[in-house]
Amino acid sequence: MRYPTPLLTLIRELSRLPGIGPKSAQRLAFHLFNQSEEDVFALARALEEAKTGLERCPRCAHVMAAGNEACEVCLDPARDAALLCVVEQPADVLAIERSGEYAGHYHVLHGALSPMQGVGPDQLTLRLLLERLEGVREVVLATSTTVEGEATALYLAQRLEASAVRISRIAYGLPVGGDLEYADEVTLGRAMTHRRPL
Ligand SMILES: [Zn+2]
Repeated sequence: MRYPTPLLTLIRELSRLPGIGPKSAQRLAFHLFNQSEEDVFALARALEEAKTGLERCPRCAHVMAAGNEACEVCLDPARDAALLCVVEQPADVLAIERSGEYAGHYHVLHGALSPMQGVGPDQLTLRLLLERLEGVREVVLATSTTVEGEATALYLAQRLEASAVRISRIAYGLPVGGDLEYADEVTLGRAMTHRRPL
């Protein structure tokens, strides 16, 4: 038998999420079906509000509340605006903040270069990064240690070579092939402190 259309639609939409295969999508769909109307509508509202209530910071591309001038980090006068840390995802900003070892600004790429998955320089916030280098003393490349993260760091180092900006790469000690957001605070703090010139 075929599943009713609303169920097929839900499974299809859920399976488009990262890390959710068809089986997980099906399990989630049946779980939602058994939830109360109140719970399911609360989830639907949260999805909608997350989409309409959030924007990218116009300066660093980090996530911020819609309608604000810039994100909290960019607006904080106590932070060093001449130091810029380039990360792949907003979650990486939060991970580095938890380490307590960094008081500069950020730049969120929203991904890493991956020709296999069709992610080139234009799909990332590279232009915004190149436009904001004035007054910047050092760029710390804190992309992940995956193949894509390393390729992105190398590409950025080459693009920034012509500028007067000092370029450094977050120190190792981070698990190779690892995403930044899963590193513990101490490891991440140490990696930031011992960053090396590139
Ligand atoms: Zn910002």
